Amino acid sequence: MTNPPNSSGPDAMSIHRRAIIVDMHADTTQRLVDENADLNQGLRDGHLDAVRAQEGGLDAQFFSIWVEPELYGGGGSRAIRRADIQIEAVQALAAKHPETWELATTAADIRRIAANGKIAALMGMEGGYAIDEKLENVARYYRMGVRYLSPAWSVSTSWAGSSGDEIGGTRGLNEFGKQVIGEMNRLGMMVDVSHLSDRAFWDIVGTSTKPVIATHSGCRAIADVPRNLTDDMIVALAKTGGVVNVIFYPEHIEPGYAAKKKTVDAEIASLVQRASDEEKGDLAHKKLARDRVRRAEYLKRLPPVTVSRVVDHIDHVVKLVGIDHVGIGSDFDGVQVVPADLKSVADLPNLTKELLRRGYSESDIDKILGGNMLRMMEAVEKK
Ligand SMILES: [Zn+2]
Repeated sequence: MTNPPNSSGPDAMSIHRRAIIVDMHADTTQRLVDENADLNQGLRDGHLDAVRAQEGGLDAQFFSIWVEPELYGGGGSRAIRRADIQIEAVQALAAKHPETWELATTAADIRRIAANGKIAALMGMEGGYAIDEKLENVARYYRMGVRYLSPAWSVSTSWAGSSGDEIGGTRGLNEFGKQVIGEMNRLGMMVDVSHLSDRAFWDIVGTSTKPVIATHSGCRAIADVPRNLTDDMIVALAKTGGVVNVIFYPEHIEPGYAAKKKTVDAEIASLVQRASDEEKGDLAHKKLARDRVRRAEYLKRLPPVTVSRVVDHIDHVVKLVGIDHVGIGSDFDGVQVVPADLKSVADLPNLTKELLRRGYSESDIDKILGGNMLRMMEAVEKK
């Protein structure tokens, strides 16, 4: 699994410490809002906090601004409010702990903040629900610091199809959707295709004049789930100059895992429901209670997946399109199960060890861990 002790060759930890590490997607924002989690101390649960981030050598984290449409609506004032609250929570994190975190919106910010030994906090919007079908809201969120947007999460918007529902199968981008992409290109906001339907993917690649990103996705050739990218998609995305950021979530990287998880979900449905019923808090807290049960049961009932599988997806992208179009998007704190040796952000060095073991050079590893994303951000920032 890892280099034997005292093996010669480059030292994984020194490479890892020196590299600028950029994680394109974590859902920790929900914890800031719903649990009032203090990310500046080492938390016993979840996947990300400042202590473990610094242990794992993380330099920049994109916090997902995610509006769950079932709870907050697929548009309208509640969706906007929910997005705004999350943005305020990320801003407050940096304001409260300026010695640890600093807000960032550009690649240059990330380089500067990393050089100062702090963690850059960035924001990306997952699902276009808070745009509320108004073009001017794209610029509003850009001004608030959001630097990527995926038009839909698991529920299609009227203007972009999702891979997570039936309507997405026939929905790409409509005229308004194309205007949104144009506005993002104009502003310098990255267009994220994670979670989108195949049709929406192709419409985006055909519309965007700037590099296109997948912030947390896997390869469908390895794990056949609808939200992963086919080989043709990976080739097309790379042609835009974009980057596929590989997700760590076992369901999206391990072959056959999604089917096994479906069986387990049926087995534990009543347990999950009971936890939800017994939770007296609001809808967000009921979801937390359900997720707690899922986390415990998945750990018991599903086979472990390791960082090696994450690197299989990285390898696959590299074989298809070369070393310049791959990065990482953990989905930490957005999933109930993670690889056994990537339990939290503190375990990121295991990724570097596995890349070295497979023969990646130091400069390749720099690109995978964050260099490719910094290059792409610079390209998108150009007016
Ligand atoms: Zn997601």
